[in-house]
Amino acid sequence: MDLDLTDTLRLNHVNGFPEVLLNALSTDLWRHLPGPTLFHVPGKHGAPLFVSVLLHGNESTGWVAIQSVLRRHHANLPRELLLFVGNVEAAKHNVRTLSTQHDYNRSWPGILDDVRSEVQLMREVVDAVRVEQPVASIDVHNNTGHNPHYACVNRLDDRYLQLARLFSRTVVYFERPLGVQSAALSEICPAVTVECGLAGGPEGVAHAADFVQAALAVDHLPDRPVPSGDLDLMQTHAIIKVPSGATVSFDGNDADFQFRSDLDRLNFSELEPGTLFGRLGSRRLHRLIIEPGGPHASLSQYFTYHRGEIRLSQRAIPAMLTCDSHAIRLDCLGYLMHRIARDGSRLVEN
Ligand SMILES: [Zn+2]
Repeated sequence: MDLDLTDTLRLNHVNGFPEVLLNALSTDLWRHLPGPTLFHVPGKHGAPLFVSVLLHGNESTGWVAIQSVLRRHHANLPRELLLFVGNVEAAKHNVRTLSTQHDYNRSWPGILDDVRSEVQLMREVVDAVRVEQPVASIDVHNNTGHNPHYACVNRLDDRYLQLARLFSRTVVYFERPLGVQSAALSEICPAVTVECGLAGGPEGVAHAADFVQAALAVDHLPDRPVPSGDLDLMQTHAIIKVPSGATVSFDGNDADFQFRSDLDRLNFSELEPGTLFGRLGSRRLHRLIIEPGGPHASLSQYFTYHRGEIRLSQRAIPAMLTCDSHAIRLDCLGYLMHRIARDGSRLVEN
């Protein structure tokens, strides 16, 4: 193994999977790896499965799931595995991204700003993966709020939805944010992001491990539609952000945004217009920022602020609403979705 500690953003390649890593904690990976690493793990079938884990350093589920898959197979995988272990530095500190870094899941080809070293690293990963002609790609994540496990796709093609359906019947199609792994890999093979609930949860680990296991074992992804009754398909139409400089609270304390304490319990439920998200603080200086979920999303008003009450102004299904003020600062408050048909058209909600 090449142990060049001077440049942690050089992509490290490892052939096989060292025994010592089978039980290593994600917070200890820095002891064994010089930085972001691509493992080439041999298997019976040549066309590899590509899996990425720890693009966010505090989202350990993917790493633990992969360890369990590799332990189960004792180095006899049914299919070759290309495993990218991403933000080893952030994992050491158990944080999503270090303040000196650019987010590892906003740095993949497709991002507009491409001068950062993280962007160059991800381009190197994509180039290395492309030549191996992977059969599919899986990027494993956790989130900070109360959410079901669900899969995300960046294309509505049959094979992509078949892959997503192997994980969950709940599938989210999204076009923003840019620079995510699954969007970049979608150019090469069927690709999904899977959201496995809170980091550290045993159900998330078991679910992710079963999914990787199934994807390793599958001969090919069928090029036919997933039966519509088997699929709950939604599209991200808006990203909700809190203006930088605004304060938030979830316990009723004075802040620019005083959100209800159970905000994340709203995730994946079909909300009616008028649903209360919280109230504005006494200064009433700020409003939520609504960014379009894609180039084709029509940017409409989603909130009203009458009498300082933050209420939804139209039907929507939220995802990834979080009560973690640090996560809000680093990423967003959450997303608003609508149900769509297989062709991407919005279904009427009534
Ligand atoms: Zn993540």
